[in-house]
Amino acid sequence: MQEIKIALAGNPNSGKTSLFNVLTGSNQFVGNWPGVTVEKKEGKARQRDGVVITDLPGIYSLSPYTLEEVVARNYLVEESPDVILNIVDGTNLERNLYLTTQLTELGIPVVVAINMMDVVRKNGDKINVQGLSKALGCPVVEISALKETGIDEALDTAVSVAARGKSIPMHAFSGEVEHALAHIEEAAIHDLSPEKQRWYAIKIFERDKKVLEALDIPEKTVAHIESDIRHVEEHFDDDAESVITNERYGLVARVLEGNYRKNRLGRMSVSEKIDTVVTNRFLALPIFAFIMFLVYYISVTTVGTFVTDFTNEGLFGEGFYIFGSFVPGIGVALGDMLASVGCAEWLTSLIVDGIVGGVGSVLGFVPQMLVLFLLLGFLEASGYMSRIAFMMDKIFRKFGLSGKSFIPMLVGSGCSVPGIMASRTIENESDRRMTIMTTHFIPCGAKLPVIAFIAASLFNNSALVAISAYFIGVGSVAVSGIMLKKTKMFASEPTPFVMELPAYHMPTVKNLLFSMWERGWSFIKKAGTVILLSSMVIWAGSTIGFVDGALAWSSEMSLEASLLGLLASLVSWVFAPLGFGSLEATVATLMGLLAKEEIVAVFGVLDFSGFTQISGYSFLVFNLLCAPCFAALGAIKREMNSTRWTAFAIAYQCAYAYCVALTVYQLGMLFTGNFGWHILGGAVAIAIISFMTYMLIRTPSDEVIRIREGRAKVTK
Ligand code: GDP
Ligand code: MG
Repeated sequence: MQEIKIALAGNPNSGKTSLFNVLTGSNQFVGNWPGVTVEKKEGKARQRDGVVITDLPGIYSLSPYTLEEVVARNYLVEESPDVILNIVDGTNLERNLYLTTQLTELGIPVVVAINMMDVVRKNGDKINVQGLSKALGCPVVEISALKETGIDEALDTAVSVAARGKSIPMHAFSGEVEHALAHIEEAAIHDLSPEKQRWYAIKIFERDKKVLEALDIPEKTVAHIESDIRHVEEHFDDDAESVITNERYGLVARVLEGNYRKNRLGRMSVSEKIDTVVTNRFLALPIFAFIMFLVYYISVTTVGTFVTDFTNEGLFGEGFYIFGSFVPGIGVALGDMLASVGCAEWLTSLIVDGIVGGVGSVLGFVPQMLVLFLLLGFLEASGYMSRIAFMMDKIFRKFGLSGKSFIPMLVGSGCSVPGIMASRTIENESDRRMTIMTTHFIPCGAKLPVIAFIAASLFNNSALVAISAYFIGVGSVAVSGIMLKKTKMFASEPTPFVMELPAYHMPTVKNLLFSMWERGWSFIKKAGTVILLSSMVIWAGSTIGFVDGALAWSSEMSLEASLLGLLASLVSWVFAPLGFGSLEATVATLMGLLAKEEIVAVFGVLDFSGFTQISGYSFLVFNLLCAPCFAALGAIKREMNSTRWTAFAIAYQCAYAYCVALTVYQLGMLFTGNFGWHILGGAVAIAIISFMTYMLIRTPSDEVIRIREGRAKVTK
């Protein structure tokens, strides 16, 4: 007997994995889909011999926009499983059936398994299975993967449907669209087997690039089809892809009509209630700002004042009182001890000033960082951050920008590297490049010590410094996006952002603590390795130098005479217009490329003085926005896969950072009554602001507009 291949398909969280486990038990094989890191699971059904089940990635649609979607549709189209078992979340029928309307087009037999029936029954919702089955044109069964009911029936139905072979999809869209689809089938794909034609026709209608490339339709036919598509677009005054989306929702509504009754009793789910406030058109952004303010207030100001001051000034500083008795700080105690055993002066200096000074100043921020990670982890896991990306998408779509560019806000607030890597899910090449370029603007965990350090040293631990740093980051992503999108280099059609808003849920304490510790621990490890080594290098570079023309070591070496100082003096003039042309600040900025927390370590070894509030803030802004650390640069290089683009990204980041910092410093000086050469600087700042404003509000060129509307190819 031949093996029967069943593909499990459905939305994320519909219960696919639960069902897969019930069906296959321990007969599972877990691997990856070829070439990508999406998990692939296969297994043999234990209820029946000769049945192989493949768990597809969870998807909302079969469009080509995410890795998961591409993996799933390539499998379905190319491998042609014998039957698709479509898992549908019965508590969320409308959304889930959207995918069903696409699965039933593939020409592969489909069985719809409505899952979570235990919950559906408890809620008192009514589903008419026969009616649904008739409207969808495929068998429908009710199951509960959790309670393990209906499983055998689902499997039996799938097996018997598979035996029937291919199924010809029913036609169900509106007249105009069906007319165009029929034309396309006739003109371009009449050679394909009949059950496959509908799927291809719809994809051609949607101008799906992947399908068009694969089919390689002659130019003349394309032009002919294009006029059909345009005709429908004009009729509905919408682009082809949206037309199909609307048709699908219309279809789902018709399918559900009379076959589904939700037992509402006027109830709204808790998530819906929260969302009416939190994603409200006017309140969403102020609430977001307030929540982020709280996050930074708690981690920077509250924890900063109590814990970090203790670690910085007590533990790694002069010392502290405990139960009324004075305990010297680690550096002081070590210094005394080394002196008492007659240790060489240079070694004492290396240990006390170099290592304890550098590493200690970074470790002092660990408590703050752990609290920040905990709070951000909560916002992510509870489902709140997804809503922010969703809101951003709504707003920035107006500027031709996709909310996917804000994915880094979901992943990158811990570290930019995974944020940059997450850009892989962006199908559109120019959107992807832009996201890679701007991801690091969102402050990562390693930037927190820098922010907290400036806030503590110059601003009395004000939470406003931290929150402004965060929003300068978010703002920079938006501003860069809008400016760049108006150039030909980055123009593209906006990518639809199909994102599910998961219901809010309370994250488990265990998971939160785990993710907090995972992130915190990698930071501590870095302090013990990269920071330790480079603190020693900085110590050496700043204590070895030229005295009376000869190389010498001295713990009292002035930075100007030291090797490090000489090196820094080559570039420090560059930063003078930003207000921090000192050698110390230059060394810190350069070392920041190694790792951003290095900036704090540098000031643990070298003197931090000579900063005013204005120059300190400008220093902060520059270091937050300029090129990221080596690790992130490496990720940029890998994802861009092009030296030219990587160089362009770095140049853009640095130039942007320079402009913003210069504006902050020069205008700050003018507003505080410092004139002199700041009048010239202020003029440059105003020129920068004017230029950026122009870039933000200008009307893009006709060519860019054409590209945005997706008609570039045709009009050429
Ligand atoms: P997947 O993302 O599609 O693989 O979904 P999972 O199998 O991970 O299930 C998502 C969540 O729904 C889990 O918490 C499951 O325990 C739960 N779940 C799955 N099936 C059922 C069901 O039939 N009834 C109930 N009440 N919960 C279920
Ligand atoms: Mg799963």
